[in-house]
Amino acid sequence: MISFDNRFVRELPADPEKRNFVRQVYSSCYSLCQPKSVSEAKIVCVNETLAELCGFDSAFIQSQKFADTFAGNYQLQGMQPYAMCYGGHQFGNWAGQLGDGRAINLGEVDTPQGYKTLQLKGAGMTPYSRHADGLAVLRSSIREYLCSEAMHYLGVPTTRALSLVLTGEKVERDMFYDGNPDFEPGAIVCRVSPSFIRFGSFEIFSARNDIESLTKIADFCIVNDFPELALDAIQNSEQRYLQWFSEVVQRSCKMVVQWQRVGFVHGVMNTDNMSILGLTIDYGPYGWIDDFDPNWTPNTTDLPGRRYCFANQPKIVHWNLFQLAQSLVPLIKNTDALQAILDDFMIQFEHKFLSMMAGKLGLLTVDKEFVMQLEELLHQGSADMTLFFRSLADFNASDNFDYFQGIFYQEEAFNQEYENQFQQWLDEYQSRIKKEQQDSELRREAMNNVNPWFVLRNYLAQQSIEAAEQGDYSMLYDLAEVLKNPYKSQPQFKQFGMKRPDWAKNKAGCSMLSCSS
Ligand code: AMP
Ligand code: MG
Repeated sequence: MISFDNRFVRELPADPEKRNFVRQVYSSCYSLCQPKSVSEAKIVCVNETLAELCGFDSAFIQSQKFADTFAGNYQLQGMQPYAMCYGGHQFGNWAGQLGDGRAINLGEVDTPQGYKTLQLKGAGMTPYSRHADGLAVLRSSIREYLCSEAMHYLGVPTTRALSLVLTGEKVERDMFYDGNPDFEPGAIVCRVSPSFIRFGSFEIFSARNDIESLTKIADFCIVNDFPELALDAIQNSEQRYLQWFSEVVQRSCKMVVQWQRVGFVHGVMNTDNMSILGLTIDYGPYGWIDDFDPNWTPNTTDLPGRRYCFANQPKIVHWNLFQLAQSLVPLIKNTDALQAILDDFMIQFEHKFLSMMAGKLGLLTVDKEFVMQLEELLHQGSADMTLFFRSLADFNASDNFDYFQGIFYQEEAFNQEYENQFQQWLDEYQSRIKKEQQDSELRREAMNNVNPWFVLRNYLAQQSIEAAEQGDYSMLYDLAEVLKNPYKSQPQFKQFGMKRPDWAKNKAGCSMLSCSS
């Protein structure tokens, strides 16, 4: 029997209004509200490892009760469903109250790896649903389920996914915002995270000048998610808040360095989508870099300004941290100290980024100039990011530019000058390897542990979605399996480790995604 210990509900101020209707909610961190019942809950995916960690036994996992529980039809003893109140900056503008418009937290489970909050995404309307229906479709649920697990196994800090269930209902969506809505299968993912507190969870109270609630949620967050900072030794609370902010900065920095390592583009880095724990959260119109294009954004809504394109992600994390810092000013009067921590972000990022890139290149150290030259070459020749870095581990002194044949998307456009430039870079690379005198086998192994063989290419997720919508889950299950060993080449899944086929280049769902989900 699982026991829930719902600290968020117990310790933070609740919305006194019990009826579920869309509204502004003040002075409260959450509103209690019930998931909507669905007509026919059917399990599509269960993450057995995570289910076991949460204490669910195999009989329960296989039962209809499990499907009903994680579709919102049934509640386990101790669950106290609620939606969180938060705000956020969307695309650079303050958007006011947002909140869990289609997420309902079920409760917190104490696991051997700490507390985990279980949260349904797509379980119906809440007071924060604004103009939408609170539901989610199979397409976006598959994308969330697969990607959060892919990121986990790649070693990128992320929320996780416990289950994916069909609701048996149809949900209307205008996927391209072009006035052509369609009905899609409804689905619900149960997400799992130590906490779902976001930057926007602090911004909302600060914006409303509700310092009491701001203090409550900040203290709650520190005590529960940053317990090392809650020790009595730090007497001065302003000092504690500063250390906490500094820790959030460091975690966010680590997270974005990892995104840049694996070629992940989040697509909607609004402050309501920034976890205070430095976890990747909210898998919407995200995408993976195929051809190395720093300006690429998967999100069609983002196309005009490309605010959230691959190359901008570090700067945006910094911008988001600035918003968080601003919201903490009522708690941290020493704004110089806040500013100093913020100023340190870019220095920290550059340092961590270069050390990460050195790892990808199998070098002990690397300078910015050398990395930038490579990025320029990869961009210019449309090299596949994953294939290029993965193949680098087996690139030997006797090889030249021709070794990389087949990994570019526009080989026919090459001219001699480009090849010469690339060759020059490779010569320099070889000479650096030689100078460092690392053990070649160890070096090769280390490279293969940071340059994945498998990433969840956009077209692969899309193919598995199209099949699943026809009732064929085999590709979805294969992907859910292959993503567990992203650093191992898996010849039995050869088709998942290849370059993006031409047909997928501009296909909707493969390169262009909207927030409609
Ligand atoms: P996102 O861009 O997905 O992070 O969503 C921004 C805000 O819109 C959050 O407050 C979400 O809860 C809300 N939202 C997104 N989709 C829906 C939906 N289908 N129904 C209700 N609220 C939604
Ligand atoms: Mg969100």
